[in-house]
Amino acid sequence: MVYPNGLLWIIFASYGGSMTESKPFEVARETLKQLTVKKLAPTPVNYQSIYNEIAGIPNVSAFPAAPLRQIAQALPLKNPGQQKQKGLLNSAIDQRNWQGVESALLAYAGFVMPDAPNGASGRGLTETLTAPPALTADFMGQIARLVESTLPALGSDDSRFTAQAGQLLVALRDPATDVTAAKTLLVNFSHRLSFAAEDQAEVKATLLKLLQLIVENMGELSLDDSWLKGQTEALRTAAAPPLTLRRLDEVERLLKDVLFKQKDAKGRALEAQDELRKMLATFIERMSLMTASSSSYHGKMEESVRLMEQARSLEDIAPVLKEVMGATRLMTSEALTVRDELQAMREKTQATDAELTKLHQELDRVSAQALHDHLTGALNRKGLDEALHREISGLRRKQSLLCVALLDIDNFKKLNDSKGHDTGDVALAHLATVARECMRPQDTLARYGGEEFVLLLPDTSLEQGIAAMTRLQRELSKRFFLAGSEKVLITFSAGVAQFVHDETGADAIKRADQAMYMAKRAGKNRVLGA
Ligand code: GH3
Ligand code: MG
Ligand code: MG
Repeated sequence: MVYPNGLLWIIFASYGGSMTESKPFEVARETLKQLTVKKLAPTPVNYQSIYNEIAGIPNVSAFPAAPLRQIAQALPLKNPGQQKQKGLLNSAIDQRNWQGVESALLAYAGFVMPDAPNGASGRGLTETLTAPPALTADFMGQIARLVESTLPALGSDDSRFTAQAGQLLVALRDPATDVTAAKTLLVNFSHRLSFAAEDQAEVKATLLKLLQLIVENMGELSLDDSWLKGQTEALRTAAAPPLTLRRLDEVERLLKDVLFKQKDAKGRALEAQDELRKMLATFIERMSLMTASSSSYHGKMEESVRLMEQARSLEDIAPVLKEVMGATRLMTSEALTVRDELQAMREKTQATDAELTKLHQELDRVSAQALHDHLTGALNRKGLDEALHREISGLRRKQSLLCVALLDIDNFKKLNDSKGHDTGDVALAHLATVARECMRPQDTLARYGGEEFVLLLPDTSLEQGIAAMTRLQRELSKRFFLAGSEKVLITFSAGVAQFVHDETGADAIKRADQAMYMAKRAGKNRVLGA
């Protein structure tokens, strides 16, 4: 506010007519009187306005620089045009130039719509608001591009929809099309589009259900293989909605693991099974031969005993003895053959047994080559290496952020000692489940060692990474698991490192590990940044 401090003498031009000249204190006294007469509140504004009136000073309102500056400060800047106009506005305020303020504000408003055809030229607000621009070829072209970009996502199953979209695109790109015709076509298109989008959503949901069914069946078929059971469980989790490309990628990698192992295991097991089946057949054949020859031997013996009883002389006995000896020799040689064959079969069974043991070891090796840890379903070290490679390449390509967190369960040895190793195993799986549920789909969880896990958090700053791990910590402190009927809670200590320029995965993990170690030393159950 500008007050007339400098006035010593006031020339009365019009007020009351009785005074021609007056001192400021007289004017002030008269002003107070008038305020009372007019029943006005004694505010500075009212006082000054009456004072000016009495003193005959033209009532020029002061320039409200401060409020105007506040307004200028609050203006959002969406494009360079608005930025420029804000600068002009500020200098107009500095110069107390109303006209400058007005034209800067009008031009600023002209930039409200980033693509408004008049915006760049800085035409006036009134013009922009009262005369909306006609649909230009450029605008129609934009809509055509929008329509076109929706098409791939909707598939090409519905030929009528495809034809309708084609017709709309032609019309939008034809300068002769008027707005009404374009609008009718657009309304029809969006009507059909809403159905098509619903269809697509349903197709996606059905495919997901199908995938889950397949995964469930795979789990049923592999009841006796804990590795496969773990993998199918992880697959089931990965295939749960909402589905993102990254999750589909995870499903694909898990499926490859499972199929590779199943195929390998099946081929080898079938061979061993065939071998055993053949041996069993030979054994049964031999057994029946043995039974047959021993019963004929038996018959011959009985016959011989009968003949011997009837024998009267040595001549009578001699042929019987010969018969007995012959039968016994035959029996013995057959028994020897069978014994040899059984011996060979035993050796073969042992060999097959050894082969099966080897097969199991081989399968364990294959499991180790797979990318997932069987107990927790998290990535194993190999899987982590692949994920790190992928994330670091993405980081370099997109110039974005990447955080790595390393967590170690607190006092895990004590849990194992007091509640048993099996409970320890359940705790590990529990932690992995909670982590998967409360991290974002694009985050990666890997089992780094016994009770240590690594998390890769793309597009994440150090602060956000620490916040994410603290959130996981809070979630874990809310969710217990049961060891028998006892509720068990676990905590962890973690270190978080944000990848710096050209850093390797191993180096970033090392920094996270050091921060984790500091968290342990600081009393555990906490998250520290590296
Ligand atoms: P701190 O709080 O300092 O981390 O102590 P801690 O007891 O958790 O750490 P320590 O490294 O002394 O013990 C880790 C234990 O984890 C030792 C090992 O027997 C156990 N462990 C490692 N792998 C497994 C597993 O797969 N299952 C179970 N149940 N225990 C495991
Ligand atoms: Mg440890
Ligand atoms: Mg530990």
